[in-house]
Amino acid sequence: MKVYFLGTGTSQGIPVIGSAHPVCQSVDFKDKRLRVSIWITWETGSYVIDCGPDFRQQMLAAQCQSVDGILFTHEHADHTAGLDDIRPFNFKQGEMPIYAHQRVLDNLKTRFGYVFETQNRYPGAPSVLAIPVCNNQPLVLGGKTIVPINVMHGDLQVFGYRLDAFAYLTDVKTIEKSEIDKLQGVQVLVINALREAPHTTHFNLQEALDFIALVQPQKAYLTHISHLLGFHEEIQKKLPENVFLAYDNLEITL
Ligand SMILES: [Zn+2]
Repeated sequence: MKVYFLGTGTSQGIPVIGSAHPVCQSVDFKDKRLRVSIWITWETGSYVIDCGPDFRQQMLAAQCQSVDGILFTHEHADHTAGLDDIRPFNFKQGEMPIYAHQRVLDNLKTRFGYVFETQNRYPGAPSVLAIPVCNNQPLVLGGKTIVPINVMHGDLQVFGYRLDAFAYLTDVKTIEKSEIDKLQGVQVLVINALREAPHTTHFNLQEALDFIALVQPQKAYLTHISHLLGFHEEIQKKLPENVFLAYDNLEITL
């Protein structure tokens, strides 16, 4: 299984438009972060988690040829705003299966009404096959079991996903013990870490490190990073030896 980090930035991305912050001015390619998303592939599967506003650019950068489906974590725009750009895949492969909590599917229907229109559809409109994800009901995709993990982003429910010994959790602020139990035996954990200062709806760096210490994966990668966290190179030096800052276009093999 391969995991490709399509984007590792928080909602505004890095650089932030118009920002004079030193991290936004950095020339290090690891300090350039598109909105969070990953692409996971294995012999019989190619799935993307989230489809934010940078989706088109990300698919081009990763030279992605086909996507079997998109798993959504939640409805916030930095995770969903790229839905219109699935059209090249529609033209090649037909309807795109999308997997999300029913609330998220309903939200997408409101925001992307034309995508879900059944009558008088515009011929070139994106087309999706909407499949609800329920907690405690694993999905089987491309021969692999995908376990949804329920987490809280402030007051908003968000799904993380586990595939074999890999788990991807983003936009977490709190998580119940019963959900942490589902991460037992995970070897590679991806978890959000916004910045050093606390935030009401996202883990800060210390909360992410405490969570990693609790789950005890062999390796952990931090994502959904704000420019306020600091320079990639400087922060990486301060992390425990099994914890890494993810960066855009990083690919890992499990
Ligand atoms: Zn987000």
